[in-house]
Amino acid sequence: MKYISTRGRAPALNFEEVLLAGLAADGGLYVPETLPQFDAGEIRELAGLDYVSLAERIVTPFVDDCVPPADLRRLLERSYAEFRHNAVAPLVQIAPNQWVLELFHGPTLAFKDFALQFLGRLLDYVLEKREQKVVIMGATSGDTGSAAIEGCRHCRNIDIFILHPHERVSEVQRRQMTSVPGDNIHNLAVQGNFDDCQAMVKASFGDRGFLPQDRALVAVNSINWARIMAQIVYYFYAALALGGPDRPVSFSVPTGNFGDIFAGYLAQRMGLPVERLIIATNRNDVLHRALTTSTYGRQPLAHTLSPSMDITVSSNFERLLFDLYGRDGGAIAALMADFESGDITFSEAAMAQARSLFSSQCVSDDETCAQIASTWNECEYLLDPHTAIGVRAALQSGLAGMCPVVTLATAHPAKFPEAIRSAGLKEEVHLPLHLRDLYERQERFTVLPNELTAVQAFMAANINA
Ligand SMILES: *Cc1c(COP(=O)(O)O)cnc(C)c1O
Repeated sequence: MKYISTRGRAPALNFEEVLLAGLAADGGLYVPETLPQFDAGEIRELAGLDYVSLAERIVTPFVDDCVPPADLRRLLERSYAEFRHNAVAPLVQIAPNQWVLELFHGPTLAFKDFALQFLGRLLDYVLEKREQKVVIMGATSGDTGSAAIEGCRHCRNIDIFILHPHERVSEVQRRQMTSVPGDNIHNLAVQGNFDDCQAMVKASFGDRGFLPQDRALVAVNSINWARIMAQIVYYFYAALALGGPDRPVSFSVPTGNFGDIFAGYLAQRMGLPVERLIIATNRNDVLHRALTTSTYGRQPLAHTLSPSMDITVSSNFERLLFDLYGRDGGAIAALMADFESGDITFSEAAMAQARSLFSSQCVSDDETCAQIASTWNECEYLLDPHTAIGVRAALQSGLAGMCPVVTLATAHPAKFPEAIRSAGLKEEVHLPLHLRDLYERQERFTVLPNELTAVQAFMAANINA
């Protein structure tokens, strides 16, 4: 399997290279050159497989011979053994034809564990083979940081530096990052906001001179192809459990950077019968506006009850645009260059094609709270605010009259107790057992000024792997 850039001017890479690459040299994102295809008969044969065995079948064609089958199996087994539910991704019914796919049984209680548990192990495996060590650098406003740290905590060949805005992440999220022991784990609390952190990461990828010669810099945000790949699996898993491929299913996906829902799109392109993919957004509705008006434009960031979806642009949307524009890398490069200087308008042909599979809904904080309360009152099921947006969008879509609608539950409600209180619920939300002592655990982080040179000097001086 070869991977090519959405902007058409970077060399094609194999899986191992794309794993370590991050952004392509031309500024584009890597996508598979062709997708493996599963016909209805082949999908039927996947029914009843446990999560790891299904993952093995879905992931193998993407990984190719970069990881031999027995090793791949072992990496997948170890990754999903960390999940605290035997089904890994259980489905729960909340109303007629309405389902919730619980993706929050991993170590950090958010769906990002599905990709990052596997990515950490894959990276370490490949680095061991290459006798190479790397530095991971990432910025987080919450969930990505803890999932990346949990995924890399046992990796001998990786130092991981996670920047978060000092005193601007929730206490649960901060403690999940800073209470993980390990010489290779470095939490940097930057005296700035999330955008400052992200700008420092971007600048560091642009000029890696501050690192020792032998250390490559690796990205773990959702521009990393392996994250998207791992997420394709649970779309198959849910659809198979609900009668696929003989009964099409729709998915409602709480969306920020468009990584998760893009995996659903790939599942559909690989042959899985998917009726609709619903892009569920909070007030940061750049994708909802794109889909309904064909115009893609930045608006000021709004802080909502669903902070993991607070974004102004969705970087992975470029991966979909690449297909919508007939995989013309030159066209995407031109579009993205225009977007640097202002709003852009997509061609009607491209958007008509997008609308044949995707629809979108924008959900306010008030509606999010109302949904948390009504789902609780109807079936005593507690939604986290991100998932509540997905459920609301699913209901508004009216699709349940036609086919099963699965909302991806992207986080555990105990991660966002403020939203539960805002919804007017008095119930105590307990952290799962493995995190019950989170508030007693020792924290470890370094506060740094909002200066690139200070951050880079700290990194250079603290490489331990
Ligand atoms: C990251 C995240 C999202 C958004 O996922 P994308 O892949 O960026 O669209 C939604 N919900 C939660 C809880 C998250 O952590």
